[in-house]
Amino acid sequence: MSNQYDCRKCPGYCCSYPLIALEKRDVVRLGKHHGLTFEEARKAFTEEAYGRKYAMRRKKDVHYGKICQFFDTKARCCTVYKARPKVCRDYPNTKRCGYYDFLQFERRAQDDPEFVALTDHS
Ligand code: SF4
Ligand code: SF4
Repeated sequence: MSNQYDCRKCPGYCCSYPLIALEKRDVVRLGKHHGLTFEEARKAFTEEAYGRKYAMRRKKDVHYGKICQFFDTKARCCTVYKARPKVCRDYPNTKRCGYYDFLQFERRAQDDPEFVALTDHS
């Protein structure tokens, strides 16, 4: 069975998670993608947070409050797709995405195909 969600029709909820935890190899990959050393990439792209050494830095977002710094907030997509961290490659780890199901339900209920459903991350 193919995936039952379509990220192209989603405003990027998973990219707005408070913690996007990176491994060292993710920082190395993102650095290479931008022509930066590991240390330069670590400083530019990560911060220590939630007990993790390399947490993704975030920026403001009109829908979710904050979102990954690499998210294009107008086009609503990842700008480093080929170099994205492992956690982003793996998500949602199943054939269904819970948020996408919720989003589709709300869009049908509101009769608005563009509706952005909000949830509380806490
Ligand atoms: S929340 Fe689900 S549907 Fe939306 S971008 Fe993430 S994986 Fe794709
Ligand atoms: S790196 Fe890309 S896929 Fe991963 S959270 Fe950031 S914008 Fe989303």
